[in-house]
Amino acid sequence: MFQLSKGSLKKILDGNNVSDPILQIIQMKNIQNNMDGMTRYKVTLYDGETQHTFGILATQKNSLVESNQLRIGSVIKLEEYAANVLSKDPPKVAIILLNFEILGEMDPNSKPQATNAISQPSKQIQNENIEPNKPNNQTNTKSFFSKKENDFEKAQSTNPPGTFNGFKIFGISSLNPYQNKWAIKARVTNKSNIRTYSNARGEGKLFNVELIDSTGEIRANGFNEQVDKFYEMLQIDQVYYISKANLKTANKQYCKLDNDYEMTFNNETVIQPCEETDDLPRINLNLVKIKEISNHAANDFVDVIGVVRSVGDVTTIITKSTNRELKKRELSIVDNSECAITATLWGKQAEDYDPSDSYPVILLKGAKIGDYNGKTLSVASTTVVQINPDLPEAHTVKGWFEQGGSESDIQDLSSQGMAAAGANSGGPISGHSNWKFLDQLKDEKLGMGDKADYFSTKAYVLYAKKDNSMYMACPGENCNKKIFDQNDGTYRCEKCARNYPNFKWRMILNINLADFAESNWATCFQETAETILGIGTEELGELKNSNDPKFDEIFSECAFKEFNFKLRAKMETYNDERRVKVSAVTVEPVDYAQSGRRILQKIKQFAKEQV
Ligand SMILES: [Zn+2]
Repeated sequence: MFQLSKGSLKKILDGNNVSDPILQIIQMKNIQNNMDGMTRYKVTLYDGETQHTFGILATQKNSLVESNQLRIGSVIKLEEYAANVLSKDPPKVAIILLNFEILGEMDPNSKPQATNAISQPSKQIQNENIEPNKPNNQTNTKSFFSKKENDFEKAQSTNPPGTFNGFKIFGISSLNPYQNKWAIKARVTNKSNIRTYSNARGEGKLFNVELIDSTGEIRANGFNEQVDKFYEMLQIDQVYYISKANLKTANKQYCKLDNDYEMTFNNETVIQPCEETDDLPRINLNLVKIKEISNHAANDFVDVIGVVRSVGDVTTIITKSTNRELKKRELSIVDNSECAITATLWGKQAEDYDPSDSYPVILLKGAKIGDYNGKTLSVASTTVVQINPDLPEAHTVKGWFEQGGSESDIQDLSSQGMAAAGANSGGPISGHSNWKFLDQLKDEKLGMGDKADYFSTKAYVLYAKKDNSMYMACPGENCNKKIFDQNDGTYRCEKCARNYPNFKWRMILNINLADFAESNWATCFQETAETILGIGTEELGELKNSNDPKFDEIFSECAFKEFNFKLRAKMETYNDERRVKVSAVTVEPVDYAQSGRRILQKIKQFAKEQV
């Protein structure tokens, strides 16, 4: 048996704040609100002495009824509630059950005879339709706490616990247009830019923020003076107390948040930063795996967490609709569903992204799906972007990536993968993906399409061709053109159209690569050639000039060295002959542990396919 808090209901109805009363639910009805179509549960509460027939379950607790965890007979510890006066005459007070702990169950019929006669509690949930609150009820809709308003306002600088600006702090999900005496404590999860508009009444500006607490999320809009007043103050990820703002039915076309209402700041709105933030969720996520995005339609919004495996440069495009220049940057994001997708950042976000960050975890909340060139993601103005967020999912995906995931066989949902985009713009290409054995180069007709194909492979150098591997190049910045020895101590560059007193060495090294399956020629330029030969170009050039026998040794010594290659395959026409030319984009030492994990994954995958 539980000890119910006798007399607590009367205290609540008298407007007192009762902390954690133990109450029993002795009746429950399912009511359909005609206005918003949402199901609400009306409960009769019993405190061992009296009962109150007008308890309303906060909608975010509905699932407890639907899963039969909360039912007639349940005993709860009511940790957070709101007592709303719906009318004074006759007196009608709704107790909204915002937060509670289910302690257990007692036979609802074992209670002593109630002082207020009620119908026999029924175990069956009944259906009852109630009329939505009519707008003229609004003036009557007063919070019980309103009579204490003056006292609270005096004490505003030191808000009593659970209040702000004289109002009790409510959960976001319990806000509605018929109750305006509230405060919330919420985290800003997104903030728009300031936009301007013009209508019949003239020009104006607006912005919006998205707010979250442990009960739900809501969008809030600010116009004109409120832009000046609050835009700078409200910062993403910070927590604020907010009271006094208008609530209206949300425009679902513009607002994808899970709330039927949205908020508009007004002249009376009070916002104040809040330092205690422990109990607030950071962000309300509905994460999908990248692999699942292939099942979503274009223009859907999704929340994704993944590792940025490669970063493109900032490029400029001209938008078709407005003929305006727009900056963009593409990221390739991968997660433990072993799929990758290209996400595009726009404008300031594209420029602000730090490409030197090594494989960061990125959170995109509300990224828009595109289906041009396979599936892609667009980071819309409403998308929340966080780098290395402190979330369990972020740590999971980072762990997966570092423990071999980066080496697994990644399927790229975006057909024009990042690699191509990065190479075209001269952007950095980092990270291996798309691992192949050399026989797959021909089998899969890599490089035979219109665009270059990129793949990674682990292979041995069989032979490095010494002849024509080095040339004298123009020392001019970014020139690298072949330079001609004038035999008068100067060197002529036709491109720069001038003579130089010096030159620099450049390398074009042709190597024959092999793995267990196949061999193939590939061209290495400068840095990749230096890695393979294990010597700097200038040093090698000096050996060549001085006819040092060590020059030949360098080339023979690199045979049977093994490297990880990132290769580019592209069809080229040379003397009317078309053939796939393969060049090395990066050459790195083999990480044998990673290589082992990659092979292990391939074996597991192969085993799975055989079942
Ligand atoms: Zn030059």
